[in-house]
Amino acid sequence: MPSDPLTDAAAMALALAQARDALGHGDVPVGAVALVDGRPVAARHNERELIGDPTAHAEILTLRDAAHALGGWRLSAVTLVVTLEPCAMCAGALVAARVGRLVFGTFDPRGGACGTLYNLCGDPRLNHELPVTAGVRAEECAALLTSFFAGKRAPSPAPDPAGRGRSD
Ligand code: ZN
Repeated sequence: MPSDPLTDAAAMALALAQARDALGHGDVPVGAVALVDGRPVAARHNERELIGDPTAHAEILTLRDAAHALGGWRLSAVTLVVTLEPCAMCAGALVAARVGRLVFGTFDPRGGACGTLYNLCGDPRLNHELPVTAGVRAEECAALLTSFFAGKRAPSPAPDPAGRGRSD
């Protein structure tokens, strides 16, 4: 019997679990899941450090797995759920894949391309636009990143109140 479709919050719980897995190999904790009709078809996390690939962001790896699972590059049936606002590369990939919808957790003031620095998912000059839902379980998504980067900087007598930065 098929399971009930996941809510955005339940799907984000899966993405958060993926993000925590990234910590196991020292990668920035970002996780993503691809859904079709509310059911997961792929889930990955950031592997940039693990495999030494600058493009191995959670979203890119998830889109690749989803395309394999669905048998083609056109992912208009997919909702992509990710813990952090996608960067320009990943937002570009979402547009290129014709992804149907994006859900993300916390905004990325340093690199966000889905509302913060750019709005690549809603630019009518591009050949595809997709609706974006932001802020789902944002506190949990942000806390994971904040503690990761706090650990990277420790010991520090005066933690940066601005929260997180890039690891590079
Ligand atoms: Zn990215």
